[in-house]
Amino acid sequence: MKTRIAKRLQNISPSKTLQITAKTKELKKQGENVISFAVGEPDFPTPEYIAKAGKKAIDSGRTKYTASSGTPELKSAIKEKFKKDNGIEYDLSEIVVSNGAKQSVFNALAAVVNDGDEVLIPSPYWLTYPEAVKAVGGKPKFILTKKENGYKMSVKDLKKAITRKTKLLIFNSPCNPTGAVYSEEEIRAFAPILLKKKIFVLADEIYEKLIYDGEKHFSFANVSSEMKDWTITVNGVSKTYAMTGWRIGYLGAPKDIAAAIDSFQSHSTSGASSISQYAAEIALTNGKGEVEEMKHAFERRRNLILQELLENEIESTTPKGAFYVLADVSKYYKKRLGKTKIKNSVGFANLLLDEEKVAVVPGVAFGDDKVVRLSYALSDDDITEGVRRIGEFLRKLK
Ligand code: PLP
Repeated sequence: MKTRIAKRLQNISPSKTLQITAKTKELKKQGENVISFAVGEPDFPTPEYIAKAGKKAIDSGRTKYTASSGTPELKSAIKEKFKKDNGIEYDLSEIVVSNGAKQSVFNALAAVVNDGDEVLIPSPYWLTYPEAVKAVGGKPKFILTKKENGYKMSVKDLKKAITRKTKLLIFNSPCNPTGAVYSEEEIRAFAPILLKKKIFVLADEIYEKLIYDGEKHFSFANVSSEMKDWTITVNGVSKTYAMTGWRIGYLGAPKDIAAAIDSFQSHSTSGASSISQYAAEIALTNGKGEVEEMKHAFERRRNLILQELLENEIESTTPKGAFYVLADVSKYYKKRLGKTKIKNSVGFANLLLDEEKVAVVPGVAFGDDKVVRLSYALSDDDITEGVRRIGEFLRKLK
């Protein structure tokens, strides 16, 4: 039968992580002791003073529509944050608050990508990027990065990928899923190439605070005023303040782009939740050191998971930011457990879950079928036990 789905959405893939997540839930329901490395959110609760602000927002009647681009108070807090943390001066008219950074990414693409435009995405990538590009009529073009280079794109890689149709580069540092963090020097080297060809940058900086080994975050828009004019900076409170369910993300962009995004959003979702916006304002202005505490906890857990992976002879790189690690399991493809042969990352993840009750995300979802992604937003005990089970699983494969 001919599909009745519009062309725009025909090529959007369902989330490849859903199958594993659904199976994990089912096993847990059956009372199985499942350890899930598949999560994409901090396991810490939202800090109490932020939760209290949410309650106060309800009690004090902050429960009505807000301006579509966000409350002036939250936008002022974001303006200050961009200035203080990132060295970027955005005017209030250049800031748009949305329902999570995911919507900010979608809005940014909708604002500048025309039908058939190419959008560069370093791979492995966050799985929403290519789908969002396709949804607005663009063509994702991947820049393959290698494990040996810490999954980082080089100037040469970038130059090679650019064509006359290139409209935008999606740049995610610290990166989900690789943990790669680009230095100021590396970012400055990309800028002249992009500026010469008038290519936009969508800089997704959502993991900027979760960064280790003394590495420093640097914002694309901080390169120069010229670069700022071609950059859309996306950020949010989900990962930094353990507020994934509150759904607040934001972007800073040149005035014409921010205005187009505001109009677009005003006809789709309108402003984000008034209650969440107030809580986000308090998170950004009244920080009590919990961000640093969370970062230290993640760094310690990263070190723990790396040590456990090494002890179990599982190959991985050292992530410098975010809370994920990629384990290269490709040498186990073609091996068997009983009658089941592992063919790829999906096969690996499914068998591991069936056999050891450990959930990981197959790398094919991020553009690299050799790996699986493990989140270390888990307790120390779960990390140790989970990796032990993976090691046991690998030793059983023939
Ligand atoms: N960007 C990246 C790289 C992410 O990993 C995520 C969430 O997993 C987001 C953006 C979206 O965050 P949110 O929509 O919760 O603000």
